[in-house]
Amino acid sequence: MQSQYDVVILGGGCSGLSLAVRLAELGPRCPQTLILEQRAAYTNDRTWCFWDDGATRHLPLIQHRWPTMTVQSNVGQATIDCGKTPYQLIPAEAFYQDSVERLTVCPSTTLQLGAQLTGEPSRAGHYWRIETTDGSCLASSVIDTRPSGPPIQGAATLWQSFSGQEIECDTAVFDPNTINLMDFSTADPFRILFTYVLPVSTHRALVEVTQFGPEPLTGPSLAHDLSDAISRRVRGASYRTLRAEEGILPMGLQSVRKPTEPNYIKVGLTAGAARPCTGYAFQRIQRWADSCAKRLGEGHPAIGHPADPLLLRAMDHLFLSVLRAHPEKAPDIFLSLFANTQSDRMIRFLSGRGRLADYWNVIGALPILPFLQQVPQALWWQESWR
Ligand SMILES: Cc1cc2nc3c(=O)[nH]c(=O)nc-3n(C[C@H](O)[C@H](O)[C@H](O)COP(=O)(O)OP(=O)(O)OC[C@H]3O[C@@H](n4cnc5c(N)ncnc54)[C@H](O)[C@@H]3O)c2cc1C
Repeated sequence: MQSQYDVVILGGGCSGLSLAVRLAELGPRCPQTLILEQRAAYTNDRTWCFWDDGATRHLPLIQHRWPTMTVQSNVGQATIDCGKTPYQLIPAEAFYQDSVERLTVCPSTTLQLGAQLTGEPSRAGHYWRIETTDGSCLASSVIDTRPSGPPIQGAATLWQSFSGQEIECDTAVFDPNTINLMDFSTADPFRILFTYVLPVSTHRALVEVTQFGPEPLTGPSLAHDLSDAISRRVRGASYRTLRAEEGILPMGLQSVRKPTEPNYIKVGLTAGAARPCTGYAFQRIQRWADSCAKRLGEGHPAIGHPADPLLLRAMDHLFLSVLRAHPEKAPDIFLSLFANTQSDRMIRFLSGRGRLADYWNVIGALPILPFLQQVPQALWWQESWR
């Protein structure tokens, strides 16, 4: 390990690699950068999906695109045409491999896998000292992408816990043109549970069950729901499991850690990367990585994720508060939202790129009463965070 770096990135996952790759692209202006990742090797541990906003830099990594999506409950179905902004999938392994290749050929970036920090970074004059089991180094600037702690009840308004399997069936059972974004057919009134199906061919799909709730759940707690969801989807066909993935995403973090020290920036999923009402973070991370790398390349300090506009924050907060207070209303709320909002407006809103007119369209699509009733409690809840 070299003894001094301009930038040390803690964590080489989505945020860390995204920023490092942008820095490598600066060529001679790329700061001396070290990425410390605890994993010894990358695996295909997740799929990143998002709606095409015309700005994706990862076109060659996209495995599949869908022009149509559905949301359904026991009372109906909404079919959404997203042909202009298709929903698209990047397998994590493609993203990791592409990033590693780009960092390997850059003389100013070093990715160290299997890195174990022996303590938290500490101040050493104008620098940060970082100690690992392989030695120590000094950094002018630290970008910390590690999660701030384990998911715990109370740290987010809701937790999005999910567990899924990519399966391959022996007969054609899926429609590869349509994703099932939310299927509430087996909803129960005490929890918000839905199935998410991403078919990449007629025989193969990622089937996932997701629960939104105040308590984070690990994969085993959703095992029964997942096996039930798969059985319903394959309709008697035999299948094999190719891969499994699971996650717990914050929806409405109670406190986003702000930088408290000079040249130490906290970013990633638990520092404002995730869109509160959806948990989507991939594109927000890409936008942050673009701006942060630009600033570092110009010799300015690094930046964290920008705060969302006030109106969006208020809407997200009220939306999550209603879901938390009325899990039994979730299927109707989501169905109404997708059925009554123009698809392009809805997609911009979900992707965190909404304009004022999009917000109004979304508000107009929601059943008004539960939201009005929730306003006082949402305000109290917001106050009680501080
Ligand atoms: C299974 C799954 C599917 C998802 N699907 C989507 C999706 O479809 N669309 C979307 O927009 N978002 C999705 N997300 C949410 C989000 O995009 C991802 O979680 C994304 O990986 C977050 O990026 P990150 O950099 O914050 O965290 P990570 O990508 O998890 O990176 C953090 C890195 O820090 C490393 N690390 C942790 N502790 C240490 C340490 N002490 N020392 C060194 N390294 C350390 C970890 O090993 C990891 O590599 C998904 C999340 C999961 C888990």
